[in-house]
Amino acid sequence: MTDKELADLIYPHITKTVEDYEKIYPKRNLKENAVVSRFAPSPTGFVHMGSLLTTLIERKIPDETDGVFYLRIEDTDQKRSVENGIQGIVNDLKNFDIKIDEGVVGENEQIGNYGPYIQSQRKEIYECYAKSLIARGLAYPCFCTPEELDETRNLQELNKERIGYYGSFAKCRNLSNEERARRIKNKEPYVIRLKSPGDYERKIVFNDLVRGKIVFPENDLDVVLIKSDGLPIYHFAHVIDDHLMRTTHVLRGEEWLSSVPVHIQLFDILNFELPEYAHLGLVMKIDEETGSKRKLSKRKDKEAAVSYYHEKGIPVEAVKLYLMTIGNSNFEEWLNQNPTASINDFKFSFKKMSASGSLFDLEKLINISRNYISRLTAEEVYQRVLTYTQEFDLEFYQLLVKYKEYCISMFNIERNLKKPRKDYASFSDIRGYTWYMFDELFHEDVEYDFQSIHDVEEIKKILNRYMEKYYDENDDEQTWFEKIKELSFELGYAKEVKEYKENPDHYKGHVGDISMVLRVALTTRSMTPNLYQIMKLFGKDRVFQRFQFITNK
Ligand code: GLU
Repeated sequence: MTDKELADLIYPHITKTVEDYEKIYPKRNLKENAVVSRFAPSPTGFVHMGSLLTTLIERKIPDETDGVFYLRIEDTDQKRSVENGIQGIVNDLKNFDIKIDEGVVGENEQIGNYGPYIQSQRKEIYECYAKSLIARGLAYPCFCTPEELDETRNLQELNKERIGYYGSFAKCRNLSNEERARRIKNKEPYVIRLKSPGDYERKIVFNDLVRGKIVFPENDLDVVLIKSDGLPIYHFAHVIDDHLMRTTHVLRGEEWLSSVPVHIQLFDILNFELPEYAHLGLVMKIDEETGSKRKLSKRKDKEAAVSYYHEKGIPVEAVKLYLMTIGNSNFEEWLNQNPTASINDFKFSFKKMSASGSLFDLEKLINISRNYISRLTAEEVYQRVLTYTQEFDLEFYQLLVKYKEYCISMFNIERNLKKPRKDYASFSDIRGYTWYMFDELFHEDVEYDFQSIHDVEEIKKILNRYMEKYYDENDDEQTWFEKIKELSFELGYAKEVKEYKENPDHYKGHVGDISMVLRVALTTRSMTPNLYQIMKLFGKDRVFQRFQFITNK
């Protein structure tokens, strides 16, 4: 029986040839150095921060070269798939403004001419290539049971031999085609394995864009290409898909580095052009309990999932800026020199990526976010909080809608300054920092954070006197403050802190204590943005209402 006859026996339904697929998926018509890259996750329902960094770069280099970025779903391993797992990934990318030129754009929607972009829908393509390899004597069915494979492995361990299915350990490699046909007809389960032409004693050399020149022994393992369920294993799907989708750059985690010899071999025997590879280091963190470095884990770390940032209302731009700081070692310096520039203006370089991985620092990300929000205009903050609260806090959203101009003025307090106020690290923070500005959120049971003056009668006296004699809505800031000084003096407090410090026995306290009473009585808080401006925004009626809330008790 010839190899071709065996191939026909295994895949009788495959009528297309590999040449047909070359025609169906022709070379892309792009300019010479255009990069075609892809994000190829399993449908796990979420994007990990490490993958988001990869995706940022996968999006950026086609942007820099007029190339293409596409999303392919790798769902051949059932264990890594969850229900609606595609939608979760699509949503995460959408929320992070990472545009897909081609590929999967929804649970049931794909765009582009190089699809299908979901691997389980490409079964016939993989089968066609497996068939061609069998016909060429470069692949064969293997009937070894898991028990037999375990046995081989134990033997190898015992004898301290290299683990794997190769050489004399590859039991099914040298079966006759007649024997193979007989067992197939006998309905024995089988996988399709590569008949590796490699020699472990020989070396292969390749260039990794991040790591430079890499030398490995050639692959001599007869790796599985097609599993017994008929679907391909990663190695085979990667090579076929990235070839047919005309990928020029494969960016992926360093865990795939050791598989490169298999991939190079497959590209070679299939006569495909090898793409560029960039194996990115892991994103790690310092474990809070042990103090040592470990992989940022989706199981243990809330900040590992990109949805965390969306839910928290940390601006996408800030997350991207942060990721770029761990992506390219010169990015932070560039950002410091160009604080208002966009990531699009930065020229990415693989050479500036860390091969050993990078340490994830949530504090630093939050700090970048704080700076980012502080540089937005009041209108921008308003729009962003509006979008955020519409999804996550409808009550606050309605207040923002109702009091639009008031809110914008509120966000404007201490904003257009050389050193703007940096209270907000996220859009979800804002309600907690501003709730007292809304009467609707100001309830009976509010707690006041009075500082040095606690005596209720004294507090009432200060507020009453202020309302009777010193408050005037039309005062400018200086006059307003002068009057607080006069009020202080009238009630036995020093007009200046310095004066009080020099003669503490002469006074009950100083002007700072009096303004603190006003601030806390108005807002409940001892720390707020500029009190004068808050009072201005409130207007007389509301200021008095808040003060009387205390004096009438
Ligand atoms: N599905 C693979 C993974 O999630 C993709 C690796 C690659 O990008 O080729 O690890």
